[in-house]
Amino acid sequence: MECNNVCSILLKFGGYWTEVKGQNRMKYVGGNQKTLKFDRSHINLLLLKEQTEAICQWIRGHAYDLHYHISGTSPKMYMPIKSENDVIDMLLGSRNVNKVEVVVVVIDHQEGMIYTDETQRGCVEDVSATNMVNNDILVDGLYDASFVGGVEETNILCVGSRFEDSSSFKQAIRSNAILQNFAIRIKASDKSRVIATCTYRGCPWRIRASLCSDGHSFEVRKLLSTHLCPGVNRAGNKQATSSWIAHEIQDIVKRNPDVTPKDIGNNLETTFGLSLPYMKIWRSRELAREQMFGSVDDNYKWVPTLRSELLNRNPGSHITYQCDKQNGSFKRFFVSFKVCIDGFLAGCRYLIGIDACHLKSKYLGVLLSANSLDGNNGLFNIAFAVAESESKKSWEWFLMNLSQSFDVHIEHLAFISDMEKGLGEAIKTVFPHAEHRVCMRHLWKNLKRLSL
Ligand SMILES: [Zn+2]
Repeated sequence: MECNNVCSILLKFGGYWTEVKGQNRMKYVGGNQKTLKFDRSHINLLLLKEQTEAICQWIRGHAYDLHYHISGTSPKMYMPIKSENDVIDMLLGSRNVNKVEVVVVVIDHQEGMIYTDETQRGCVEDVSATNMVNNDILVDGLYDASFVGGVEETNILCVGSRFEDSSSFKQAIRSNAILQNFAIRIKASDKSRVIATCTYRGCPWRIRASLCSDGHSFEVRKLLSTHLCPGVNRAGNKQATSSWIAHEIQDIVKRNPDVTPKDIGNNLETTFGLSLPYMKIWRSRELAREQMFGSVDDNYKWVPTLRSELLNRNPGSHITYQCDKQNGSFKRFFVSFKVCIDGFLAGCRYLIGIDACHLKSKYLGVLLSANSLDGNNGLFNIAFAVAESESKKSWEWFLMNLSQSFDVHIEHLAFISDMEKGLGEAIKTVFPHAEHRVCMRHLWKNLKRLSL
């Protein structure tokens, strides 16, 4: 009869072998299934593999094994399909029922999930059937709304979720773990796959994502979303590593590179319920800045480019820098825009206030500045410079550049400053005809300090 020639193959894929504790046997869990109908006389190993790869397209390029369920065994026993003879054996064994189950498992030796020659003839039980509903995703709790609640859409974890690359996948699973108060561990991570498990011993939670054919995306292929562990305390959540935080706060830091660690901390507390140490947040902010804007050290390489670009856009300005003669490292940078010089000469009193303040970047240093008052008594910047420290040398260099930027001799020029050592002498050297007075406020402050 014709119908006797048709054999149904129930192909199970996307799941994996797992050991049944204490029973020395393996069971196949998770995944999906599809029924294929074949003419018995046509079935061979090549056809079986072709059909498997047509259904599980992501499997192409990966090593995988096929096993068939030995008809009539319960708990289920499986045999590997490695040759044409195995296919013949499979068909012979199922000739009475005309139905056979074949499971597909990607070989992953590091995982220890594939059963080996020692175990493959052992008792293998199948539990996936209990999880199967109309070929939908099969793992319990996968679409549980509480699991994805509060997580950005891109962070949703389920079989088939795609991520831009392995690091965004790792970021997403960390975020999920933090939101859920669980601790996860990246068990394996390489070019083709990322596997993470729950750190709690015995907890079955586990996820696996593999590289897609586009060569960069990662897709979740396996997920056991049930935690059977007590979870972790939010405050002490070690999942919130500096690199994870840096990635999470990128948008905040991009909008405001000077955002305080306190504000970042508040944000993380609201979003993730995390209470993190100040220094950890500080380090993470530095990391985020570095990832986006490059490292502080590297940015010094851009000094010559910065100068030429500033000059390009502000023709006639006086912009210069100085490097250490011995080791070539950055020392000073002076900026005086043409508009500021023109504005000072045309509309300000010729009284220049000179002062410095300390910089807080990695390499510290000072910001030197020369300011004046315009016709409306508004503060008017003339020039500024970054230098290593306040000294007679650095002030002399600053004032020398200031006089060069004027390009004309100014009659009745006067300076006002605090009583910084070396500054008075520097003014005398560079502007011998200018007046120099000490700022009353600074003087008063110094006297007040002495009288206490
Ligand atoms: Zn767990």
